Amino acid sequence: GLTLILSTHLARSYHHLFPLKNWVEVSWEEAEKAGSVACLACQAPFPPLSVRAARGKGKGKGTATGVIPASETRGVSESGRYACQVCGNHFCIDCDVFCHEVVHNCPGCLSDTRPRQGDQQEVDGDRMEGLETQ
Ligand SMILES: [Zn+2]
Ligand SMILES: [Zn+2]
Repeated sequence: GLTLILSTHLARSYHHLFPLKNWVEVSWEEAEKAGSVACLACQAPFPPLSVRAARGKGKGKGTATGVIPASETRGVSESGRYACQVCGNHFCIDCDVFCHEVVHNCPGCLSDTRPRQGDQQEVDGDRMEGLETQ
């Protein structure tokens, strides 16, 4: 039989071909540096930096650098923040899942109007292609 192709199917193929890059776990150091206090997308408050200080008390003096073993943080962000590698914004775990599995767009990238290096017009053109009308 015939299969009706809707634009949403094409959009799905587009996302399959060009998936949204995974967001990376944000260390306490980076969180501190960025000073991010809430998710950019949903405004949910992040665990405050004081949480890190409280946890550090139990550990020995050898943790002066504050470096957490990678094995400990694998897959889960200690700071509760997840960063888009493109726009650098911080998001919560809920938005991480939602953006990668449902909307396939980064709210930070879509709302980022700062000019990048290179041709501004070209950037805008690329961006329009990625946008969808739902
Ligand atoms: Zn969020
Ligand atoms: Zn982004």
